[in-house]
Amino acid sequence: MGEERRITISVIKADIGSLAGHHKVHPDTMAAASRILAEAKSKGVIIDYYVTHVGDDLELIMTHRKGIDSPEIHGLAWEAFKKATEVAKELGLYAAGQDLLSDAFSGNVRGLGPGVAEMEFVERKSEPIIVFMADKTEPGAFNLPLFKVFADPFTTAGLVIDPRLHGGFKFEILDVFEGKYVVMSAPEEMYDILALIGTPARYVIKRIYRKSDNEIAAVVSSERLNLIAGRYVGKDDPVAIVRAQSGFPAVGEILEAFAFPHLVAGWMRGSHFGPLMPVGLKDAKCTRFDGPPRIVALGFNVSKGRLIGPADLFDDPAFDETRRLAQTIAEYIRRHGPFMPHRLGPEEMEYTTLPEVLEKLKDRFVEAKEYEKRIKPKLRHSALLSGEPHE
Ligand SMILES: [Mg+2]
Repeated sequence: MGEERRITISVIKADIGSLAGHHKVHPDTMAAASRILAEAKSKGVIIDYYVTHVGDDLELIMTHRKGIDSPEIHGLAWEAFKKATEVAKELGLYAAGQDLLSDAFSGNVRGLGPGVAEMEFVERKSEPIIVFMADKTEPGAFNLPLFKVFADPFTTAGLVIDPRLHGGFKFEILDVFEGKYVVMSAPEEMYDILALIGTPARYVIKRIYRKSDNEIAAVVSSERLNLIAGRYVGKDDPVAIVRAQSGFPAVGEILEAFAFPHLVAGWMRGSHFGPLMPVGLKDAKCTRFDGPPRIVALGFNVSKGRLIGPADLFDDPAFDETRRLAQTIAEYIRRHGPFMPHRLGPEEMEYTTLPEVLEKLKDRFVEAKEYEKRIKPKLRHSALLSGEPHE
């Protein structure tokens, strides 16, 4: 259990431009990012890496021994995104460089646009992990499934029957508006946890720890691009890392939570609710109304820091019914067009055209009492019948 066995997994992602609108990442941009990571691997900066994509998001999965928030690792990711952006610009891809909000990298990609999920732990004898990557949604999309995985015994049987899980888990919840954390304990504070995370636009599960020994179990990226940039620059499509087996929920228990295609915010222009559809990598591309929102799950075994795998976990007929239901829901909710609850509520529309529309109409809004006086009929019906004189 020496220090040398501590390993860090960093999943850093960005939308640096995509093919045919917001559809999917171009393979040449992935190749450009891969070259940078291959070079870093050969120099021993990282131990291993896997480059992939979900929809229009370029995903870098890296292992190393430099801990979380390492300037070297963040700098490496930044360089990979920069190189990929150069290719995206050269190819004329859509929204090239979209998520790189600043030209000045200063040691950490947080706040500069990319999304980050990182965890550090001592590798177990066998260390299965799942990396979840979603497109066309927001970090709060993980609230419901992660609650089910780590606090709902109807999803995770182990919470009841496995003594190592029976003590429950701690949830670190981030208020993304206030920038504050609260740590809460399940099952004791389950209802209070739900009172918060039921508002996924504001309260986001950031990390989950096993209570018995404080071991890290899950981490979610929590960047919200619209809050970072102060204007709408695309939804901050989230990633998460979850550890599985031997004291953590089984892989199947973790995946079970995604068999229900719950409604998440995102989809077209980041402004619509839609079902989160679990898909294999071959279907990790957005089409209908730039969606529906999709999620991919890649399973790895981390062995001496190497990423063994991946297993494309949602690429399985067992999720066909989930996908079918997702499409039925997509069809239903799409019929609402620009109406809520398909379109997000006004508080979420702050960075779209809504404030401009309100500003334009400002002088045309009249106090209700005043307005009603104006439209009062000049001729009363009773007067007309009685033949009273009138104007
Ligand atoms: Mg995206």
